[in-house]
Amino acid sequence: MSTVDNIKIPPAQLDLSTGSVIILVIMIKKHYRTDRYLEKTLNSIWSQYFPDIQKYNRVNICFGYRAKKRLGSIRRHNIDRQIGLYDTLILINGHFRDPEIPAYIIKATIAHELCHYAHGISSPLPQTSKFPHRGGRIDQEMELRGLSNLEKMENTWLSQNWYSYLDEQKALQ
Ligand SMILES: [Zn+2]
Repeated sequence: MSTVDNIKIPPAQLDLSTGSVIILVIMIKKHYRTDRYLEKTLNSIWSQYFPDIQKYNRVNICFGYRAKKRLGSIRRHNIDRQIGLYDTLILINGHFRDPEIPAYIIKATIAHELCHYAHGISSPLPQTSKFPHRGGRIDQEMELRGLSNLEKMENTWLSQNWYSYLDEQKALQ
């Protein structure tokens, strides 16, 4: 019998008396994360690790599509071309709504995007380079801000779990 590991079967619903096992699959209600959760996490990371970076424009954050590779992204939106102002939008991989993904993965992803904001990528701050990742710039920024351990934890978890997680999701569809 093939089972899905994360479906829990309460013992009372296993009827062994007839020699057959009747399994009632209970849909376990997961508490999926919301955009509000992302906003709160963004605010706390900003105040704890990026207090020197002023919020020059409105920075919005929400879950995007469920991507295989891209964990997060930062872009301009709500652009007012007449006055040259815009908001910043941080998009987080839609898979990360799932509470099976550790919270520190989301934290590390948001911190990574905030490093881009600090470097003037999709933000009104002066842009420090045309190439956001060149020369390990993000790793350096994460380290300067005391975030390299978080980044390491993220990389370790991803290398050990990400592809099996995606396979599981595929099998559930
Ligand atoms: Zn990046």
